[in-house]
Amino acid sequence: MKIICIGRNYTNHIEELKNERPTEPVVFMKPDSAILLKQHPFVIPEFSEDVHHEIEIIVKISKVGKYIEPKFAHKYYDEISVGIDFTARDLQDKLKAKGLPWEKAKAFDGSAVIGEFLPKSQFSSLENITFELKKNNETAQMGDSSLMLWKIDELISYVSQFFTLKIGDVIFTGTPEGVASVKSEDVLEGFLEGQQLFRIQVK
Ligand code: ZN
Repeated sequence: MKIICIGRNYTNHIEELKNERPTEPVVFMKPDSAILLKQHPFVIPEFSEDVHHEIEIIVKISKVGKYIEPKFAHKYYDEISVGIDFTARDLQDKLKAKGLPWEKAKAFDGSAVIGEFLPKSQFSSLENITFELKKNNETAQMGDSSLMLWKIDELISYVSQFFTLKIGDVIFTGTPEGVASVKSEDVLEGFLEGQQLFRIQVK
């Protein structure tokens, strides 16, 4: 399986990192080795002094597809959750400054936290679902899918122009504002519409 990630999908997050507003979705990938194994702590890698959490709504692809039209995109996923796109911000800033690919900063081992999936049928609409990251029991990030620049169905359509989507692939749909460093002993919990879908410890 592959993990496809969207960058810069929320205006307030674009502003906090002083990025340019994109005219098309920003897309990158993580390999399956990036998935943080269940019950494992997230270990801050030695190559970074500034690993940020990015809470994101994630969807799991349930049907093979390419050149998917936006109006049919909803047929390609049944389940939804939240995850963390851990980012070595210091390294990413260096790579970005040189125009180099982001993988070392974004796709390292453990950088993809994938929460427990819920059937999307559980939600009346995916257009305005809320999600939250708590750090040590306090709200660190809050988001609402209504604030996405590109909606889930548009993202699925867009990425399928480039990559065949396969069953089990996961799409990270971008983070809202509030990204910040994690430190050893932090506890991070992810919620979708108030339901807790992951809890991890930082080491
Ligand atoms: Zn992200």
